[in-house]
Amino acid sequence: KAKGDGRSNYRYFSPEMNANMLERIELEQRLRRAVLQKEFCLNYQPIVTLNDRSIIGVEALIRWQDPKFGLIPPDQFIPLAEETGLIEPIGEWVLEQALIDLHSWHSQGYMINMAVNVSGRQLINGNQISFNRLISKLLKKYGIDAKYLHIEITESMLMEDREQCLHALEAIRDHGMDIYIDDFGTGYSSLSYLKSFPISVIKIDKSFVDNMLECPSDANLIKAIIMMGKSLELKLVAEGIETEKQLAFLRSLGCDFGQGYLISRPLPNHELSNLLTLRLTPTLKHEQNLEEYL
Ligand code: C2E
Ligand code: MG
Ligand code: MG
Ligand code: MG
Repeated sequence: KAKGDGRSNYRYFSPEMNANMLERIELEQRLRRAVLQKEFCLNYQPIVTLNDRSIIGVEALIRWQDPKFGLIPPDQFIPLAEETGLIEPIGEWVLEQALIDLHSWHSQGYMINMAVNVSGRQLINGNQISFNRLISKLLKKYGIDAKYLHIEITESMLMEDREQCLHALEAIRDHGMDIYIDDFGTGYSSLSYLKSFPISVIKIDKSFVDNMLECPSDANLIKAIIMMGKSLELKLVAEGIETEKQLAFLRSLGCDFGQGYLISRPLPNHELSNLLTLRLTPTLKHEQNLEEYL
């Protein structure tokens, strides 16, 4: 990004800058290795109905276990992965691992949905064709109906690349998958803007849920999002529910679904399996059993 302006060159030699660059270079090298060595894992956070808290699905959330730095949260490496293009192999790994686990839960009779976060970079600049091919291939490989796979895209990403996203999302929707708008309320999109996208679910950003009980303007914003969502016949999921009061309030406003530490933190797959066993009746298994005996 050097502009050839001699006077600003000192910036490139500031010790702080060098330290940051070294850190960044090291992180990038580590991330490249992590991709090759598959140092990632997925945690799954339940998404429940606010009425009776039954688990209708999970959101897959990536974790990076680095040998030196330990567990690195996605906010600290997804932006770098997007800049470097590493998000493409990482995103592929996420999709496949999520479908492997979903296949295992489905085969035990837990017919939950799987929501996967996807970066813009995976969808635009010609990548949407390979993304859709990848999805077809994986759904077929694991025998999963597309209606169980949901794709989360942040509102700010939609705002950045409206045209390209629209085409990519239409292809995803034509496949039979639901599209969620993530972190809704932070990206300044308008009603008419939202209407032009083939989405089915709005996720209300955690920052509004955090403050809504103390801050009337956040409460009003949530009310407006819920009303708008309903008028567009979209489903609403609230993120980051941490207290009973928050859950009750969201429910009273007509929000149907939610996720948050109150219900469950994101869990490794075996812990999610345990939770499903405790909380859900395996439907498919039951039907299969019936078929066997009829
Ligand atoms: P997100 O998609 O909005 O995910 C929700 C984040 O809120 C998760 O953070 C989750 O652990 C956290 N969360 C959920 N409930 C609560 C709560 O009650 N309290 C608090 N304090 N936090 C809660 P996480 O796992 O650190 O992920 C951060 C972001 O990283 C995600 O935000 C998503 O944008 C991105 N991300 C995660 N996994 C992937 C991935 O596989 N691919 C891509 N492209 N992005 C991902
Ligand atoms: Mg998400
Ligand atoms: Mg979110
Ligand atoms: Mg968020």
